[in-house]
Amino acid sequence: MDKKEILKEFSSDPDRYYNVKLFQEQGFVRKACSKCGRFFWTLNSGRDLCPDDADDTYSFIGEPPTTKRFDYTQAWKQVEEFFVKNNHTSVSRYPVVCRWRDDLYFTIASVVDFQRVMGSKVVFEFPANPLVVPQTCLRFKDLENVGVTGRHFSSFCMIGQHSIPDSQGYWKDECVDLDFRLLTDQFGIKKEEVIFVEDVWAGGGSFGPSLEYFVRGLELGNAVFTEFQGELGQHTTLDQRVIDMGAGLERFAWITMGTPTAYDCCFGPINQKLFEKIGIDSDSEILRKYFTEIAKALDNFEDLNDVRRHAIKTAGVTDDQLNKMITPLEGVYLIADHLRTLIFAITDGALPSNVGGGYNLRMMLRRINGTINRLNLKLNIDELIDAHIDYLKDTYPELDEKREDVKQILKLESTRYEESKVHMKKKAEKIREKGVPSVDELITLYESDGITPEYLKEVNAISEIPSSFYSKLSDLHQSEKKKTITELPLEKLPETETLFYKDDPMEFEAKVIKVFDDQVILDKTSFYARGGGQEPDFGSIAGFNVINVDKHADIIVHQLEDGVPKEGDTVSCKVDETRRVNITKNHTSTHIINASSRGVLGSWIWQHSAFKDDDHARLDITHHSSLTDEQVKQIEDAANSMVKQNLSVNIDYYDRGTAEQKYGFRIYQGGVVPVKSVRIVSIEDQDIEACGGTHVKKTGDIELIKITKTKRIQDGVVRIEFVSGPTAFQYVKDQEEESKKQAEENIAKQTLEKQREENKQKAREQIPILLEKILGGESGELDEITVKNKICFTASEQYDDYFHQNFGKKLITKDSKAAFCGIFESGPTVRIMMHAGEESGVNSGEIAKEIASILGGSGGGDAKFAQGGGKDTSKKDEAIAKAKSMILG
Ligand SMILES: [Zn+2]
Ligand SMILES: [Zn+2]
Repeated sequence: MDKKEILKEFSSDPDRYYNVKLFQEQGFVRKACSKCGRFFWTLNSGRDLCPDDADDTYSFIGEPPTTKRFDYTQAWKQVEEFFVKNNHTSVSRYPVVCRWRDDLYFTIASVVDFQRVMGSKVVFEFPANPLVVPQTCLRFKDLENVGVTGRHFSSFCMIGQHSIPDSQGYWKDECVDLDFRLLTDQFGIKKEEVIFVEDVWAGGGSFGPSLEYFVRGLELGNAVFTEFQGELGQHTTLDQRVIDMGAGLERFAWITMGTPTAYDCCFGPINQKLFEKIGIDSDSEILRKYFTEIAKALDNFEDLNDVRRHAIKTAGVTDDQLNKMITPLEGVYLIADHLRTLIFAITDGALPSNVGGGYNLRMMLRRINGTINRLNLKLNIDELIDAHIDYLKDTYPELDEKREDVKQILKLESTRYEESKVHMKKKAEKIREKGVPSVDELITLYESDGITPEYLKEVNAISEIPSSFYSKLSDLHQSEKKKTITELPLEKLPETETLFYKDDPMEFEAKVIKVFDDQVILDKTSFYARGGGQEPDFGSIAGFNVINVDKHADIIVHQLEDGVPKEGDTVSCKVDETRRVNITKNHTSTHIINASSRGVLGSWIWQHSAFKDDDHARLDITHHSSLTDEQVKQIEDAANSMVKQNLSVNIDYYDRGTAEQKYGFRIYQGGVVPVKSVRIVSIEDQDIEACGGTHVKKTGDIELIKITKTKRIQDGVVRIEFVSGPTAFQYVKDQEEESKKQAEENIAKQTLEKQREENKQKAREQIPILLEKILGGESGELDEITVKNKICFTASEQYDDYFHQNFGKKLITKDSKAAFCGIFESGPTVRIMMHAGEESGVNSGEIAKEIASILGGSGGGDAKFAQGGGKDTSKKDEAIAKAKSMILG
């Protein structure tokens, strides 16, 4: 939808769309900006320019329009007090990790808190009406600007004022009246300073007019009236009209403080701490001038570097001031901002990684580390985390609870960054030599080596980051989520009655509603359809085997083999109970392993995905490192302790909003739930999840859980494979047998080793005696060696390869007329080893080759030394006879 078209349409009828009661009561006049043409409402009839184009833009820096000063925390107290006084419920913020939407990684606006996706439609669910919320929002598209512009943050607090116009809520008139009084009565801004600009909002199929409000060129908030749906011209009014007023808390603090940047009044004592470290005074006049110029020039240049250059020139910043003040300040602001965002994200269960939303978090920590290195700062990150949380905990007490977890994760990540630097540097040098890498190459570099394009840019290996890099990377990870389901023409069929959510009979009668080839639809079924990682039930329908069960919306489709019943028939159905019971045990075990992992490892553990079949199951959890044997044992012990406690597993249905308020967003372990009524599976108070699967009634029914394998399957995800119930007992038995077998094999190996050692010792003693005799001219049988004029042959079992090797070599070294041939068994093969002195008249290679071929193998070497062998032991005697005749004649 074209926003310009909508704005044109709405602005052509201002009385209908924009002229609220407040404007009439206070005497606001509507003006068109003489520069850009936008319409705005002001009490100053002489004003011709909109807030963006006027001269008073950012004049609050150094000269705030209020008599009272409020920093970030105090500003929220003011806002909250005002709205609560005016009958709003103050709601706690929702997590920044957006677990209730599968199209968003992070919460990007306060209204997202209350949006739930049902099919292709977005519906609103408000826990109170009207309400106000201090919603932390994460946005990463302006990362370059953070620390530099004075007003861009990677996370900010959106004051969300939301109302549905009904008996409790209100619509435009009251909304704008409240916002005006918030600025004037509560914050003490003069009425004449407030300007409303006409605008529109459109997204997700709906749209409506909006009024942005400004004070001295700073946009403080935007009241959106989501009112219509469809295409402009053919649009209809929404059943559920919503007021979505979002304002930046950071800006409210800034306008009352008038500091050079919004950063100066929003990070509490952090900046001061950092300023002291690097010795800069943030109050100086030059900073006021410089950041005012930055703020005013930001929209006038394409490139941020040009904005910076312009401000340096206009404000008269010297090179010395730039290097000693501006550059370090930008670094300090960046560190404070990025760290605050990481604290919120990690508190809410996100982990820095290479995948999905974790990518941005890792990137930010790397930017913090890079800045610390570049400015050569000696900083204690833990101290800064403490300072942030101490400052924020009044408004966000949940941050205090996760303080140590945040420290642990950031320390680990920073260590990894330091460790990877040498490797990254080498790679970067190679890239610089090779020339500009393609986007795909950059993605491979990032995914396999963890080298960010930011780093490559930092070390000048590339000159810029291709704009398609981030979108391509996110597409790559997004597509993993999608799955394909074969489309069946099911539109006109009734919903299948799901018996597995009721009495769950293992034998039942049902009517065949529809048959497509080998797929059968019944009026009701106890066959659990594949879903939520739980594999389907098997069994029989009308005597035909059920080999698969899938759910298509509300209809359950059974796939049969070797035939199908007729449509309209009433058929008897039987679920394979053993399979079902085992799958069920594995499913409840998945919840137990999830809870135990969280208890053992930390609060960042979430289910990433899960799979439960009858004889094995796996749970993928979000975790930063491979598990140690000790951790695996602790998780298994904790899980079996839950089994031993025989805890009750309860299933209750809640209205989705109620479930979220009662248990929090931790219920969404398996992802979003697209229904209004949520099925909550709770293992007493140890684990509470929204889940559609089958479960045991008491954890004791599981009997035993054994973890069979764990593996870090991708950055930030660890797979835990496990078995439960009878399979677990079988596993233990197999393990015992395996270790018994291992022990026996070890003993056999040791015996063999001992035997070899003894043989060696014996050979060392025997060889000199034999040599003396043979070289002295003895012939005949000597210790089972046939000797004829220094030509020797043996196939005696008392000699092994050590003897043959050493004896043969020594013999021909001492006498070039001598030769030695040995045939012996070595494992599954019969081998021959030949040594022949130069004047012996024997060719080792020829004999070894010939004998080996008799034995079905091959041999090789030269005239002096050769060996070979084969596996055909039945030919051993033939080989011995042949060898003997070849060498002894
Ligand atoms: Zn203008
Ligand atoms: Zn589940």
